[in-house]
Order: sequence, then structure tokens, then C-alpha cells
Amino acid sequence: MYKIRQGVVESIIIASRNVHPLEFISMLGGRDRVIEELVVVPAHFGESHSSYRLDLVPFDEQIIGTVHSHPSVYNHPSNADLDSFERFGKVHIIISYPYTLNTLRAFDNYGKTMKLQVIE
Ligand SMILES: [Zn+2]
Repeated sequence: MYKIRQGVVESIIIASRNVHPLEFISMLGGRDRVIEELVVVPAHFGESHSSYRLDLVPFDEQIIGTVHSHPSVYNHPSNADLDSFERFGKVHIIISYPYTLNTLRAFDNYGKTMKLQVIE
């Protein structure tokens, strides 16, 4: 199980709503199993798939996972998602439309749902 700060959840919700109907994509920073911050990295925001500019992603040991939005109500990792999950960290959040805490889920590198606890 991972924990995530309330403020990070709020940032994810706001950012996803702001870029809708495009996908929001970012990385997650933290330590141990606590997600402490969004690490904004250069990325292409697409309508059906976003990707990181790998050439511009800094090496950062604080990066423990990824987050991206799905502009649809479908909240499961795509095959492309699974490819990028393996490359960055160990916890991956997908938030789907309409972007609330209820449509936010966390997955491991294999696309299996993980428990995520929101903390102050
Ligand atoms: Zn996706």
C-alpha cells in the first residue's frame, strides 16, 4: 500500500480538469511509500496517449512513480501505459473523467490495483 498527501491528490484533480480533454501526465516524487509531490516533467499531451520526453527527463531518485489522466471514464492501464510503468518507479496513478477521488486508482508495475491511502 502507498500513501499520498491530500495536497497532491488535489493538484492531480485540478491539473486533469485543466487539460481536459487532453491527458495530464506527470511523475510522482516521494520517499519510502509516501507520495509527497508532483514532479512535472516535459511531456507531449495527447488526446488518447501522452508520453514523456525521455531525452528531457532528469534523473531523480525521488521519482517513485507516474500519474496520468484518462479523459474517458475508462480507468485501466493501456498496453502503452504498462510499458511506461515498468520504466519509472513502482506506483502509478490513473485518474479518469470526471476526475474525483473516486475515479483515482493506483497500480503497480504490472497493472495490478494497489491500495492508496490519502493522508494530511
Ligand atoms: Zn493511460
